[in-house]
Amino acid sequence: MKYHKSVNLTSNLFCYIWQGMGNNCNTSILTGLLQGDKPHVIIDPGHIVNESSEGCFESLEESMKGDKIKIEDIGLIINTHSHPDHCQANELIINRSGASVTLSKEEDDFRTTIGERMYTMFGMKPPRFTPLFHLKEGAMDLGKDGFKIQVFLTPGHSPGSVCLYLPDTKVLITGDVVFFMSVGRTDFPGGSTILLKKSIERISQLDAEYLVPGHNTEPNGIIQGKDRIKRNFAAVQEYF
Ligand SMILES: [Zn+2]
Repeated sequence: MKYHKSVNLTSNLFCYIWQGMGNNCNTSILTGLLQGDKPHVIIDPGHIVNESSEGCFESLEESMKGDKIKIEDIGLIINTHSHPDHCQANELIINRSGASVTLSKEEDDFRTTIGERMYTMFGMKPPRFTPLFHLKEGAMDLGKDGFKIQVFLTPGHSPGSVCLYLPDTKVLITGDVVFFMSVGRTDFPGGSTILLKKSIERISQLDAEYLVPGHNTEPNGIIQGKDRIKRNFAAVQEYF
């Protein structure tokens, strides 16, 4: 069963927009970016199966197949943050492709302490993986052709959430920091409304043409166009 809508946003960026009934995140894949035989980078692979028994990972793989992208060719997993609906499927990808994982140090520390206790308390299996390195604020130079991903540490929804900005194509991937007319929850352990406001203020300054949120609050998922993105930031900043 396919619950994702595939959007080929720019030449090497595929977004998989979640369309199921239950909860899961949107996933993005940057293709052909890394040196070697596993050149793809996946951002937030999401759940394996969600609370509505929807096969999230199965659906993702099915949708990827339509774009001729194989799990086995993924070399790196980037997690915007460590909530299970963003990184539960890490382990399946690691098992299949041997991919490395990265997330911020702040988020990794949270995940392995308070996060782990929280997920267990809610009856969820805490995501298990060992990151190869930690994401740091600034330019991450991964690409074989000088492709750059700009990392912004944007705490608030979780202690070490990051947003990713692709300067060449003006794509902003926000995880659960900001959505269409909405923002990430701050009532989970490790959340902070004050920090979230500051984080949103920072990323609202970026010159973005596409905003890819971690979840959909409108049917099309992706917010397109500089003016719409600016209006969206203005609206959420006004509201909060
Ligand atoms: Zn989250």
